Amino acid sequence: MCGIIGRVGDGNALEPLLTGLENLEYRGYDSAGVAVQNGSGINVEKRSGKVEELKSSIGEPLQGEVGIGHTRWSTHGPPTDANAHPHTDESEDVAVVHNGIIENYTELRERLAANGYEFTSDTDTEVIPHLVQYYLDAGYDSEPAFRQAIDELEGSYAVTAMVSGEHVLYAARRGSPLVVGMEDGEYFLASDVPAFLEYTDSVIYLEDGDVVVVDEDGVEFTDLEGDPVVREPETVEWDPEQAGKGTYDHFMLKEIHEQPTSLSQAIEGRIDPAGGRIALADFEPGTFADVDSVQFVACGTSYHAALYGSLALNQAGVQSTALLANEYSVSAPPIDDDTLVIAVTQSGETADTLTALRRAAREGAATLTLTNVVGSTAAREADDALFIRAGPEIGVAATKTFSSQAVMLTLLAQRIAADLRGEPPADLEALLPELESMPAAIDDVLAGSAAKTVARRYSDSEAYFFIGRGLGYPVALEGALKFKEITYEHAEGFASGELKHGPLALVTPETPVFAIFTGQEDEKTLKNAEEAQTRGAPVIAVCPDDHPAVEVADDHLPIPDTEPDLAGLLANVQLQLVSYHAADLLGRPIDKPRNLAKSVTVE
Ligand code: GLU
Repeated sequence: MCGIIGRVGDGNALEPLLTGLENLEYRGYDSAGVAVQNGSGINVEKRSGKVEELKSSIGEPLQGEVGIGHTRWSTHGPPTDANAHPHTDESEDVAVVHNGIIENYTELRERLAANGYEFTSDTDTEVIPHLVQYYLDAGYDSEPAFRQAIDELEGSYAVTAMVSGEHVLYAARRGSPLVVGMEDGEYFLASDVPAFLEYTDSVIYLEDGDVVVVDEDGVEFTDLEGDPVVREPETVEWDPEQAGKGTYDHFMLKEIHEQPTSLSQAIEGRIDPAGGRIALADFEPGTFADVDSVQFVACGTSYHAALYGSLALNQAGVQSTALLANEYSVSAPPIDDDTLVIAVTQSGETADTLTALRRAAREGAATLTLTNVVGSTAAREADDALFIRAGPEIGVAATKTFSSQAVMLTLLAQRIAADLRGEPPADLEALLPELESMPAAIDDVLAGSAAKTVARRYSDSEAYFFIGRGLGYPVALEGALKFKEITYEHAEGFASGELKHGPLALVTPETPVFAIFTGQEDEKTLKNAEEAQTRGAPVIAVCPDDHPAVEVADDHLPIPDTEPDLAGLLANVQLQLVSYHAADLLGRPIDKPRNLAKSVTVE
């Protein structure tokens, strides 16, 4: 997992490369590096640490019109200067940046070393420049040498390479994302669009198996054999403003505040309150008429959204389970032609989720991806894709994408149930107007939140617990995940009723309990919260103002009154803010928590 950037054009490549790396840093940030062609050779600057550190360590600005850059999230070898990308062959004739894992690197490395090629890093990536050099030494021209090298790689990769003295970039993808950006004689290659959004919004996504050659005259797409393939350019609608922090201190806070907009975008044209139906035109009428069970596969925050969707489906009378994608290969429930497998992944590139999706497809399930990224691998590989339209999310801790995923899954659950029964579910009429007013309800939460005060009041606690029932349960899990991700404090989420089956042993006056009330058996959740309170734990109720829990709780984070299907998502916004302010008080690097990266493209 990492960010790749490449640039060919007039003028110096260094600035667009460094800008690209800064914009991609959310994809990985343990090391960074650039390589630039200066006419007489390749100059490489790389080091462990952040792009900022790389920038300040480049003394004499590198000069050259062609270059590549990389921000790394290590898989093979620790984040040292030597392991940072770009990697080169010994004579620095070939420079390569790579995202992914070369599974047969040991074998390739042994073979190349036996032929006298000297390795200087612990990475799997370093075999690539040596392999290209091996074929150059054998008399191949650059492009066939690159193709030949790529052909020998097993595993997953997005690779961008350059050869000394050429005004050309070579790239290939299998299993890791890569996109070309184009603007008046200037061309980019990158892992993701925000890398070059300041320069162009005209893009072409590579597909698995594509090999691309880019020079100042244009881009040539071929398959591995060298046969031309046609890839259509598209215009992305994100503007550079959207990819910046704006007036907020952190991307996470900005993204929390973007939720009214991102949710409006998600539901626009997809609900029809006047007609009393879900208008998901993404699917033909009756698409789901034959589905007899639904399995969700996802990881992390997306798994919590998937659990939310699965519970919503069960409540709508459709058999459904949510499974961790990384457990799926050892414990998938039986699949048949009438099983629908839904992959939920923000980036559409999550390796664990892709593996589960592919397994489901192999076994004959119908597949659907719910993702934020049009053109992503999961979107392209599934039979169908549904996009949450949340725009780029840069903070590593997912916020707006969770809300949009959960809302879209609420819509989808209703739609699947309607297709199955041949008529809309009975409670849809009450739900639709509430769905329509979700953006406004989130605005209310954001405007009057006491989350900062609550975060400060409990800042010296030993651990933080989150409880919820029904659709409040995935929200409790997500509340705890967010809290631990960005504060590094111990946080756990439980089904309210589970407290007394074990976790109550952890409860002390130093362990605040956030209780989420959604209108589903709230009296039981309140009783569970009181059981914790009796043992000394402060209780923070997340519920509407007129809720009985307000009287009982030590603190209150209010949410507007709404349907049980949606209340948890309003509570989640309060919990996002609590986590954010708690992390801010602790001075944590909120957008880039330690040891984590945004899109997890390794298993
Ligand atoms: N496997 C390569 C490494 O460890 C690339 C990792 C990445 O995608 O950043 O350097």
